[in-house]
Amino acid sequence: MASRICDSVLVTGSNRGIGLELVRQLVDSPSPPVQIFAGCRDPNGPRSQALQELAQKHRDVITVVQLDTTSPTSIAEASKLVDTKLKGRGLNLIINNAGVNIPGSLAETGIQEMVDVYTTNVVGPMLIAKDFHPLLCKAAAQFPHQTNMSCNRSAIINVSTLLSSITRCPENFSVSPMYPYRVSKAALNMLTRCLAEDFKKDSILVMSLHPGWVQTEMGGPKAPLTTAESISGLIKVIASCTEKDSGTLLDWEGKNIPW
Ligand code: NDP
Repeated sequence: MASRICDSVLVTGSNRGIGLELVRQLVDSPSPPVQIFAGCRDPNGPRSQALQELAQKHRDVITVVQLDTTSPTSIAEASKLVDTKLKGRGLNLIINNAGVNIPGSLAETGIQEMVDVYTTNVVGPMLIAKDFHPLLCKAAAQFPHQTNMSCNRSAIINVSTLLSSITRCPENFSVSPMYPYRVSKAALNMLTRCLAEDFKKDSILVMSLHPGWVQTEMGGPKAPLTTAESISGLIKVIASCTEKDSGTLLDWEGKNIPW
């Protein structure tokens, strides 16, 4: 029997796109997590219907959690709910997937575009790491005899992008200038790096993952990867990463992307 990726996982922005497919493939895996917390900001809205149907089908595993990643109140409420549902056990894995893109050239980008994208793509994952840190520590401590880090034990995955790479910018800048998005995801990578250092003492693995260019509302129809293809790759990478990967940016095939 395949080994379980982890006992418990929280996925943010899971009502559509990459987040929804993550929840779908996790719950359909041969050995699914015991508890999947599917975060979305409007659980009863029309954009959450597919997630609600999936959760209904797997009532014993999926809990839909109201979670607006830019709202400290929503994050605090969500962490309380997750804590209650875990009944004293820790949370093994957080996938910070919720993200926005306001595609903009320099001429099209102003303060509001920069701030809005930064708030969701950087401040959100930072607030989540802060509030859920005790639950991640609790999960890591449940493996007292393990010295290794893994997503099975305790981890944060920040969903980043190839477009965040400062090294690779000259290759792809002209096709997608996207100032707010690129700058925010480069900052998210720094958050990953800082948290990886900070949480090393707690045996919590922290890394960034690039899902590839994927057919979603954000990725658009011309993207070469379906959500199914991207997520089956991402799940393999998540299942296999160890402390050597903490603080790095890998793609959906496990290849390292330079900062
Ligand atoms: P989509 O636009 O299809 O979906 C974005 C998801 O994030 C939605 O569920 C949306 O919820 C949610 N979201 C946005 N803001 C918030 C918030 N404040 N609180 C909670 N949820 C929020 O994007 P993708 O699925 O394509 O992208 C997912 C992640 O993957 C993003 O971080 C993106 O940057 C990254 N990525 C995507 C690529 C691609 O090609 N698609 C390539 C590289 C990286 P709602 O329905 O409420 O708006």
